[in-house]
Amino acid sequence: MIPLISLKKQYEVIEAELMDEMRKVLRSGQYILGPKVKQLEETVAEKLGVVSAVAVANGTDALILTLDAYDIGEGDEVITTPFTFFSTAEAISRVGAKPVFADVDPQTYTICPNKIKEKITSSTKAIIPVHLFGQCADMDEINRIARERDLLVIEDACQAYGSTYKGKPAGSLGDAGCFSFFPTKNLGTLGDGGMVTTSDTQLAQKIHSLRVHGSIQKYHHQNIGYNSRLDELHAAILLVGLRHIDQWNKQRIALGERYHYKLQGIKHMKLPKTAENCLHVYHLYCIESKNRKQIIEYLQKKNIQTGIYYPCSLHLQEAYHHLGYQMGDFPIAERLSERLFAVPLYPFLSTEDQDAVITALRESEELLQC
Ligand SMILES: *Cc1c(COP(=O)(O)O)cnc(C)c1O
Repeated sequence: MIPLISLKKQYEVIEAELMDEMRKVLRSGQYILGPKVKQLEETVAEKLGVVSAVAVANGTDALILTLDAYDIGEGDEVITTPFTFFSTAEAISRVGAKPVFADVDPQTYTICPNKIKEKITSSTKAIIPVHLFGQCADMDEINRIARERDLLVIEDACQAYGSTYKGKPAGSLGDAGCFSFFPTKNLGTLGDGGMVTTSDTQLAQKIHSLRVHGSIQKYHHQNIGYNSRLDELHAAILLVGLRHIDQWNKQRIALGERYHYKLQGIKHMKLPKTAENCLHVYHLYCIESKNRKQIIEYLQKKNIQTGIYYPCSLHLQEAYHHLGYQMGDFPIAERLSERLFAVPLYPFLSTEDQDAVITALRESEELLQC
């Protein structure tokens, strides 16, 4: 079986380093929010060129704490894409605000700036663009719209560690950037983890407080907060990951470009498009086809795993029934949810395995033609 994602080889490559760093943490006796977390925060902030990075328990919390810290809640609207992982909208709902969806661009699958404009009301407080599949949204346009209307821009960069927009890193492009370190993300730990990156020092301070029950000084609480801390072990693991992430992203990019080159010209298969001035880090390599079902079945027969991101656009989720959206409201997102499928891509996917995927994709198309 060629898996969609495999972390096995990646783990093996860093096993010795990991054991070494993890042992140090275990022997230190300090397990939550200690020196490793601080070092991780400083390293990421420096890499991204932002003033602060604040580690939290996961990517969803990164979004929730950021919204909460900006006092977004009841009566407020936040515009985001319907074509993302549920968590993006869930965070908006969790703080009591209303997610308002705006359809995506049919080429890049990221939120369409023109569609954002149509959705702005007097209740709109923020925009959450998602850097989907490893490619940044059209941030200059989004920031321009936000500045005009005095809105905040919170990047959901959970899938995009290492990607850039006009040379600037994801997570440094808005008022705040939110990352997830779930194991399968480009930069992942061996469990859950997350981070908020920002140059807004007031925001950073507030999140520092919110993540430990709204308190800076122990047992003195300024806010109603959360328990959303990062463990020292995860910080140590992520610091090892940071030594390798540029190389791993390079391997992803090379594989993505190789797919692109080798899959050219297959009828009815639309390959992912990289926008100008963007560095796509291929968190996922998704192909669009109206023959998705047959292609996936054929690949399955050839022992190749595929994935569907995402089979149901968020405006049609049961949990969002109360928002009153209908089928047809976001035609691009809906079409993508029917047509996109991801093929195996991870840093240590071998050339042989990738060739097998490429051959199977070409064969599936020939099969469809008879
Ligand atoms: C993974 C992901 C999240 C949530 O991150 P968790 O760490 O799993 O909470 C949010 N948004 C997007 C786009 C993601 O891919």
